[in-house]
Amino acid sequence: MRQMIIGNWKMHGLRGDGKELAQEIAAAIGPALTRRDVVLAPPFTLTHCLAPLLHEHGIGLGAQDCHAEAEGAYTGDISAAMLADLGVSHVILGHSERREHHHETNARIRRKAERAREFGLCPVVCVGESARQKEDGHAEPWLTEQITQSLPADFDGIVAYEPIWAIGTGKAATQEDIESRMVFLHGVLADHLETDDKPTRVLYGGSVKPEDAASILAVPGVGGVLVGGASLSARSFLGIVQAG
Ligand code: 13P
Repeated sequence: MRQMIIGNWKMHGLRGDGKELAQEIAAAIGPALTRRDVVLAPPFTLTHCLAPLLHEHGIGLGAQDCHAEAEGAYTGDISAAMLADLGVSHVILGHSERREHHHETNARIRRKAERAREFGLCPVVCVGESARQKEDGHAEPWLTEQITQSLPADFDGIVAYEPIWAIGTGKAATQEDIESRMVFLHGVLADHLETDDKPTRVLYGGSVKPEDAASILAVPGVGGVLVGGASLSARSFLGIVQAG
């Protein structure tokens, strides 16, 4: 299975610097795309202006959220249909920052995943345990709950395992930790999904840097990486895309 590298820009980038960053990445990425799929997920405000450039270079266009309903009186929200209309291919759902700051529940994330599929978007559903849950030995039941409640049984998309304690801390999980989580998550997915004839791509996310990207991408079961901070510099993002 081809690996996928997604750059999650989070709430960073105005038109000028966002376009410059995307142009720098697009100009240098060519050969890497024969080996890996690459998606950039800028903030909503840059979606429209980056779409032609990314499409031209074979880079996927991602979004960082969508609403669970197709349309309606939801001031300030963005629907999956609106994203599809702009040429978005992937949408990140249930990121721990949204679960925390926007109180997103597994049930709502599941409805978003269903809605995304309805409009032809590939959902990238994030799961991950906190430092406390890991220390207390509660990570596995928590991840099982997140998977079984956030993914519909006919889920056709991507899962991103992002341990909260590794996000933005500069301390990625170890290869051993990632490997054992991958075995566990693929097992839960195989039990939960009806679509187990086609294995689900599971990404790792949390402080991925060019220096450790090759070793993370070599871990069995890792279908790619979801990159935050290091996706905001063309040099470091390209280093990850081209790693190994
Ligand atoms: P960092 O790569 O900055 O740790 O962020 C990871 C992340 O949250 C990607 O969605």
